[in-house]
Amino acid sequence: MSTNQRRDRRRDIPRTDAVLSDPRLIAAASALGRAAVKSAVSEAQRRARLGELPPDAVADAAAAALPRRATTLTPVINATGVVLHTNLGRAPLSAAATDALLAAAGHTDVEFDLATGQRARRGRGMLDALAAAVPAAEAVHVVNNGAAALALAATALAAGREIVVSRGELIEIGDGFRLPDLLQSTGGRLREVGTTNRTALRDYEAAIGAETGFVLKVHPSNFVVRGFTAGVATQELAGLGVPVVVDIGSGLLAPEPLLPDEPDASTALDDGATLVTASGDKLLGGPQAGLILGRADVVERLRRHPLARALRVDKLTLAALEATLRGPESPTWGALRRDAHEIRSRVERLREALGEQGITAEAVESTSVVGGGGAPDVELPSWAVALDPTLTDPLRSHDPPVVGRVERGRLLLDLRCVSPEQDDTIRSAVVAATTRSGR
Ligand SMILES: *Cc1c(COP(=O)(O)O)cnc(C)c1O
Repeated sequence: MSTNQRRDRRRDIPRTDAVLSDPRLIAAASALGRAAVKSAVSEAQRRARLGELPPDAVADAAAAALPRRATTLTPVINATGVVLHTNLGRAPLSAAATDALLAAAGHTDVEFDLATGQRARRGRGMLDALAAAVPAAEAVHVVNNGAAALALAATALAAGREIVVSRGELIEIGDGFRLPDLLQSTGGRLREVGTTNRTALRDYEAAIGAETGFVLKVHPSNFVVRGFTAGVATQELAGLGVPVVVDIGSGLLAPEPLLPDEPDASTALDDGATLVTASGDKLLGGPQAGLILGRADVVERLRRHPLARALRVDKLTLAALEATLRGPESPTWGALRRDAHEIRSRVERLREALGEQGITAEAVESTSVVGGGGAPDVELPSWAVALDPTLTDPLRSHDPPVVGRVERGRLLLDLRCVSPEQDDTIRSAVVAATTRSGR
């Protein structure tokens, strides 16, 4: 290319302010900020200068390069069949909880009494809702997650003292998060009792003494020990004369017939637990949070501990948690209760619609699981659309991404955790992915 040609091209490249007046880029500037838009424009101008783009395509290229949102977090369709998928954000929020997030996003009366104009107890609406949901709890408190609830209990009740716990309950939750490491990091000493498979009441009795901060009972939420096993019920531990903290993990507030082996907060408290700790974003179906429920004086001790301030939840969590507690059934329970026949007919319809577009798909039986480190033994009968596994990557990079699971050489899209309104989005995603993968 001659120097003249290059000079001509440079002259044709639109100026930055001209490009920025493109309506798409004006809209993008208000959604993403002017700096992000300007740098996309500079990049497009640079490519035009190099001859990679025609000069009149600068605005188009800048608009195309800009993300849809100011966050890199991307909503995805969970077709894995894992209801509480930790990598996909565990519990999806209900419409009520999402609306509550928006309501709380700006200035809000989180610590202000609109009637009197005085300061008010932070999160009172959420705490009242939680207390009402678990009448067996004398008092309740909420921190950032289940791990924080346990860390606060250990710090306030056992720093420099002993936490008596069964060897069968020193568990790893996932991603290298080990409960014993967390407990020790608070300055408590672990006093392990029993064996991996069997622990008896007399093991606890022998370990309890002047050094005991509390007895901890942890629900081994992500595995099952079968065979020659024995553990000690909360009821029996409650007779030991020391505080008993029960980490139920999943956040069930009351017994749930669908998951008969999952412990719940009400039963643990009725059985004499001093404190119960649990997560907010597992089976409760709410935002990430750590629930602390139990005896009033002990909850108050935790609440007043200096560490509590570092574990405090923000207004968005308070809003979403309250709406989850007061509002309609969460999407998590919608997915858990979804009838296999209903899933099957949706899968059949999707298979037919794909077939009409010349895409080979099959309706197959599938097994969904609870996930999120909960109810490891529960298998939920479900149905999935089985597809060519080469569609896995293109579906994951679709907008919105569709995440399934590969099983025995096929890509399965299990519809248990997919709301029916999303079926058509999945259909068009598969069509687009097929076109892209050239099948
Ligand atoms: C999930 C879980 C935790 C950790 O809770 P997070 O909310 O993930 O911090 C602790 N204990 C048990 C038994 C759990 O299942």
